[in-house]
Amino acid sequence: MGIHTAEAIVLRRYPFRETSITLTCLTDQFGKLKGLVKGIRTVPNRYRSMMESLTINRIVFYDTHSSQLHLISQCDLLNPLAELQRDLSMACLAALCAELTDAVTPIGDPQPQLYYLLKQTLERLALGGADLTATRVHFVARLLRLVGFQPQLNECIGCGSRVEQSGFWSIGQGGLICPRCLHEDPNAEPASPSMLETLAALSDAAQPIAMEQSLACALQQRLDEFLRWRLERPLKSLIRGQGAGGEKILPTPHAPPARLLQSPGRARPTPLAPKHHLA
Ligand SMILES: [Zn+2]
Repeated sequence: MGIHTAEAIVLRRYPFRETSITLTCLTDQFGKLKGLVKGIRTVPNRYRSMMESLTINRIVFYDTHSSQLHLISQCDLLNPLAELQRDLSMACLAALCAELTDAVTPIGDPQPQLYYLLKQTLERLALGGADLTATRVHFVARLLRLVGFQPQLNECIGCGSRVEQSGFWSIGQGGLICPRCLHEDPNAEPASPSMLETLAALSDAAQPIAMEQSLACALQQRLDEFLRWRLERPLKSLIRGQGAGGEKILPTPHAPPARLLQSPGRARPTPLAPKHHLA
């Protein structure tokens, strides 16, 4: 049994028995982990954090190696990021970031870059004044790149040929197709070079890129379509964040997580750099 200290962002949190909680968090050094915090719902709370969703904490946990549920013995609140809840659109975006991270991240696979992407995105949002669409497309594009599931941007997913200027974006095929493969999805729309270039730049960028609002909106639509196609179950925050009439609805913290499709079909794009098989 090892004792570890880590910085952790709470992705999900559930009440457990009378006074405890179980939670899923993303840590800086140990990847995603599930934990049990005993007695945290008693008054007074002996911990220096309530481990609320979307807060940044320092935790001490016991790694038993025999269970995926680690016992968290200490938690200190580093940043409550309370500002995220002051604006509904911002709260929805923060919830989407957490849910998507949870969906694409396996348990116990350390990815510090992923941790800092989520942390910096949430902190940037909490500061206020961030362009929400630009922040969102950067987060999604960069996250997909880091986990190796980004859409292919220069090769046809039908025949593998290089696509330079005249590609089409197929929702049904999940990415770019060449003119010769257009028969596989006649509804595919021309993909503008500027959109593809920006998407490629976002995948490598440490922070959001300034861009025209129309381009940001087009990118968001393409990435949302890609996520719907790529994920086994739709993200709750993607559905609920776009209610009828455009109203924003806060996601339920108890929604089951979406998961990446386990076995992509033949026509699905091969990740450029798959890092792990996601269960
Ligand atoms: Zn093709």
